[in-house]
Amino acid sequence: TTTGAARPAALKPTSLNTEIAVEMIGVNKWYGEFHVLRDINLKVGRGEKLVICGPSGSGKSTMIRCINRLEEHQKGQIIVDGTELTNDLKKIDEIRRDVGMVFQHFNLFPHLTILENLTLAPIWVRKMPKKDAEEIAMHYLTRVKIPEQAAKYPGQLSGGQQQRVAIARSLCMSPKIMLFDEPTSALDPEMVKEVLDTMVSLADEGMTMLCVTHEMGFARQVADRVIFMDAGQIVEMNEPNEFFKNPQHERTKLFLSQIL
Ligand code: ADP
Ligand code: MG
Repeated sequence: TTTGAARPAALKPTSLNTEIAVEMIGVNKWYGEFHVLRDINLKVGRGEKLVICGPSGSGKSTMIRCINRLEEHQKGQIIVDGTELTNDLKKIDEIRRDVGMVFQHFNLFPHLTILENLTLAPIWVRKMPKKDAEEIAMHYLTRVKIPEQAAKYPGQLSGGQQQRVAIARSLCMSPKIMLFDEPTSALDPEMVKEVLDTMVSLADEGMTMLCVTHEMGFARQVADRVIFMDAGQIVEMNEPNEFFKNPQHERTKLFLSQIL
């Protein structure tokens, strides 16, 4: 048994809440001839924090990008917040409203100020009055601890600050689920912590999070479950203590020996 988890078991939403935020059933995807996702089965509970790790090229990005239809799967079902992803564009729009995504490269608009980056989608997609959008933007910039940067341009900020802006930008759309794709791997080491701290505080507030990351300290601290992917498959899935202490598969052991 494991008792050393940073988060008390009682706070783990999986055990409290049976509602499913994301479900993947027999999901397969090909890039041309290349079979990139192989029979992915996954249920993510509301409020759950999932960390996804695995070697480069194993399909981690592809898997989470399928959840907001940045990539299309060819076989199986993906159900997000009760809605199945099909070619129905209206449903795709609905799902994208609920799912925020933070990338390795922050993807901020360089010619817009930080405040404008944050208010763009609320104003144009959500039709929110500018004043309200700005108020919400300042709220989230304060949350990520850089309200004083609002009038600057992305190029004037450090990488860590830009990534926190990217997180705040997602939060301005009130997502129910947040996807993170290696959000700290393009950052200088001294900036990793400030971004992880932001993610931890989001986790503590109950956000449903799927995080592709090799930050195993973060995984230990916040993950309810850790998934190891290799060659397009979920090879192993366990709660973090067990995952690190008793990896079951040779491929997981090898991977952990290389990154820990
Ligand atoms: P990971 O995020 O685990 O590094 P990816 O999901 O990015 O893996 O990629 C999985 C595999 O799919 C890799 O072999 C990659 O080269 C390939 N791949 C990714 N995107 C495409 C694409 N758009 N077209 C063809 N192959 C791709
Ligand atoms: Mg990737």
